[in-house]
Amino acid sequence: SSDHLRHVESMAQLPSGARRISHLNAVILGASLASEENDLVFPSHDFSRQALVSSPEQYRKMYESSIEDPAGFWSEIASQFYWNNKWDPEVYSENIDVRKGTVKLEWFKGGRTNITYNALDRNIEAGNGGKVAIYWEGNEPGDDGQLTYAQLLEKVCQLANYLKHVGVRKGDAVVIYLPMLMELPIAMLACARIGAVHSVVFAGFSAESLAQRIIDCKPKVVITCNAVRRGSKAIHLKEIVDGALIESVKNGVSVGLCLTLENKSAMKREDSKWQEGRDVWWQDVVPQFPIKCSVEWIDAEDPLFLLYTSGSTGKPKGVLHTTGGYMVYSAATFKYAFDYKPSDIYWCTADCGWITGHSYVTYGPLLNGATVVVFEGAPNYPDSGRCWDIVDKYKVTIFYTAPTLVRSLMREGDEYVTRYHRKSLRVLGSVGEPINPSAWRWFYNVVGDSRCPISDTWWQTETGGFMITPLPGAWPQKPGSATFPFFGIQPVIVDEKGNEIEGECSGYLCIKKSWPGAFRTLYGDHERYETTYFKPFAGYYFSGDGCSRDKDGYFWLTGRVDDVINVSGHRIGTAEVESALVSHPHCAEAAVVGVEHEIKGQGIYAFVTLVEGIPYSEELRKSLVLAVRNQIGAFAAPDKIHWAPGLPKTRSGKIMRRILRKIASGQLEELGDTSTLADPGVVDQLIALRDCQ
Ligand code: ATP
Ligand code: MG
Repeated sequence: SSDHLRHVESMAQLPSGARRISHLNAVILGASLASEENDLVFPSHDFSRQALVSSPEQYRKMYESSIEDPAGFWSEIASQFYWNNKWDPEVYSENIDVRKGTVKLEWFKGGRTNITYNALDRNIEAGNGGKVAIYWEGNEPGDDGQLTYAQLLEKVCQLANYLKHVGVRKGDAVVIYLPMLMELPIAMLACARIGAVHSVVFAGFSAESLAQRIIDCKPKVVITCNAVRRGSKAIHLKEIVDGALIESVKNGVSVGLCLTLENKSAMKREDSKWQEGRDVWWQDVVPQFPIKCSVEWIDAEDPLFLLYTSGSTGKPKGVLHTTGGYMVYSAATFKYAFDYKPSDIYWCTADCGWITGHSYVTYGPLLNGATVVVFEGAPNYPDSGRCWDIVDKYKVTIFYTAPTLVRSLMREGDEYVTRYHRKSLRVLGSVGEPINPSAWRWFYNVVGDSRCPISDTWWQTETGGFMITPLPGAWPQKPGSATFPFFGIQPVIVDEKGNEIEGECSGYLCIKKSWPGAFRTLYGDHERYETTYFKPFAGYYFSGDGCSRDKDGYFWLTGRVDDVINVSGHRIGTAEVESALVSHPHCAEAAVVGVEHEIKGQGIYAFVTLVEGIPYSEELRKSLVLAVRNQIGAFAAPDKIHWAPGLPKTRSGKIMRRILRKIASGQLEELGDTSTLADPGVVDQLIALRDCQ
């Protein structure tokens, strides 16, 4: 189990440019690790010296204690928070083995606490009431605002009091469909204060997708706003909600109250559609309520929120997180993975509609008393330098984003970045997909001036917090590798039969034992929870992702297992081929899928988006194929390159390979549901370009 620890131990003595793995190994691994695994990026001495975890030895000691004595390790962290009633002596009880009965996880059972109390009141009582909790940056440059911890608490209490007044009780669901206004985290925290279960739905989802979620969780209230500006467009959110509520009624779910914020900069209330009796303006009611609200003490295992996963792989699942374990885990992971210090200004570009916005815009940072930037707008409005403008404006020290954003900004050229100082930055972070080494390099060299470690955090909606992540300053990084497990996490790589494989290998990524932030069920469908996550490899939590471990014990995520392509018996991760393509200077983004192939079983079909201004050509096609041959091997060379002006992505920015597979195999009638795509138009563009080589 502590296989990787031995590696961490010996890491300090690693010669640079160490032994290359043989070509044969590379083929078996189906991986392009041969050159990448020797690419080490060391944290600077100065960084390591001030880091919370500053050496492999310190990590090893802490990790070992977290594995040998999980109860002691987690109790110590949990004790930093306020508990109205302490948990039972038994810190956790678990059964993650379906063979032995129902899968049931419990942490800090018997304890009673409140996550909002711990995020706000506790920090205020510690003397930080005047510290800025949220800097809000609007879509239009110059449109901004801020709230101190004390002010944020008042806003939260007013809404909490209002919700209580309209009959929302502990355990009731509240759906929140809001853009990144301060009212979004306010609404989450208000629900948590009174024990209501929030379900945030990303405010880019269609009426059907929203209805599906409302029908599933039957909320007492839906909270939204009339409209939002995105870039130069105004989007009428309230109309989308109206449509969803009508659809819900048809399915027997009638929501009695739609609390609507008037977002004046996007639309006046006179222009908004309205249903008397159901719709209420936030501004008319909430400010009338008291700025103090008593705390509802919540059982550690009472639900905190429900969040439906993005649906890149099918019908959305209502992932349910509970209170105590999630609180402890989101706070601890935030602190260590970003090397958080009280003087930091932290910005995560994720929307609160995703798990990242729950754990690392709202709860994790606020539990640590951090100052958080909340950004309403788009990273390319008014131009592609907006992110760095914001970094300079607020002196952001920790910047956390997604590879899709890194790649899209990289495509626009360095000048947008280098125009700004960015001297405040000290830690960068990435989440959502494997980050290609070339994108990693650009992020590191250009954005971070080769000064800031990158925390490439692997985790999922289901895991509540980081699972495999660098701890900046603790050890050398390898561009493209999420490095090592967080405290208390025991990742294992298993083969098809579910046997753990040791050492250098690749296979299915599973987790042994539970951790405090793990989800407890899929709402209303515990059976699906067990079948999807615990049955495939009995005794383990199965992540659904493929993974390799290199000779130094570093973990490399290779993408979803469903996305693995089998070419003449070689298992090739889509991430590896994409990474090789993106390393070509003219390739901005790539998505690879498998298609049926007479001889090879499966062939490789690559959708490629070029850097601005580069035209398609036969010569370029050849050089892209060559890039893959050189980096991975001839067996991984794409059979077809499909020029793609854009790629179909979910609203969280992930490539929807399900649709690309259909386009690649010509099953154009069976594209399935494209309504959750960020831009459904790209599908038609791709179909039109099918035969253009
Ligand atoms: P759905 O489960 O509905 O298809 P989703 O898996 O995209 O949606 P999330 O829970 O937000 O929803 O994403 C988790 C997945 O994202 C992981 O399983 C993994 O495939 C990918 N991922 C996240 N972070 C990383 C990372 N740092 N490196 C590699 N892959 C990552
Ligand atoms: Mg998933």
